[in-house]
Amino acid sequence: MLVQLQELDTRLSQLSHRYATLPEHQQITEVQGEEVRLGEQLDTVMIELKVLRRSQIDREAEVQGLEDKIAKSTSALYGGEITSPKDAVAMQSEIESISRRQAVLEDQIIEVMEQIEPFALEEAGIEAQRSVGGETLRDLEEQLAVAQAEIEVEQRAVNTERAQLEEHAGEDLVALYDRNRNRMGDHTAVGRLVGSSCGACFLGISAVEIDRIRRLPSNEPSECPECGALLIR
Ligand SMILES: [Zn+2]
Repeated sequence: MLVQLQELDTRLSQLSHRYATLPEHQQITEVQGEEVRLGEQLDTVMIELKVLRRSQIDREAEVQGLEDKIAKSTSALYGGEITSPKDAVAMQSEIESISRRQAVLEDQIIEVMEQIEPFALEEAGIEAQRSVGGETLRDLEEQLAVAQAEIEVEQRAVNTERAQLEEHAGEDLVALYDRNRNRMGDHTAVGRLVGSSCGACFLGISAVEIDRIRRLPSNEPSECPECGALLIR
């Protein structure tokens, strides 16, 4: 009975260990680490993108303002508002100067857009990786929950079995066993007497001790004089 109890406790220890060391824990940590790294990478890219996009927007707004100015001047020029040829020439030259400024700005906008492109591609790439990472994380968390639930079912079954066994073994024996197990650990709390050797520490027990142990009533527990394990005989 003690051997069975010990086996159940060993299984419980193994289950707890398996629960704590499920591979999903490590995998989740890795995916989360990757997520942090991608987030930092994205922050860096976004700083560049923000500056470039701002510069594009500012230039586009300026171009819009110049276009409005040109339209206004052109309509004044050809709408008959300006009658003096000298004023007309001056206005014509102003329109040309604004157009040149507009052309410069438009070239700059194209340049800025070309600068934006690789960063935008990088941004999209990082977002794609993050989305894959997010899915992987959800899958792993599901797998982990399933694996944990399976172990919990097993733990409950073993605990039920152990409770029944405890009832059969009686309080005194279980208390003795528990005390030994706390002191010695799962594998060595109980030893089977093999010939004149203890199954827990494998040491030989003296003939006198063996004789004394064999004389004990069968319901009285005996301990190995060498290691203290409960001897099954
Ligand atoms: Zn022993």
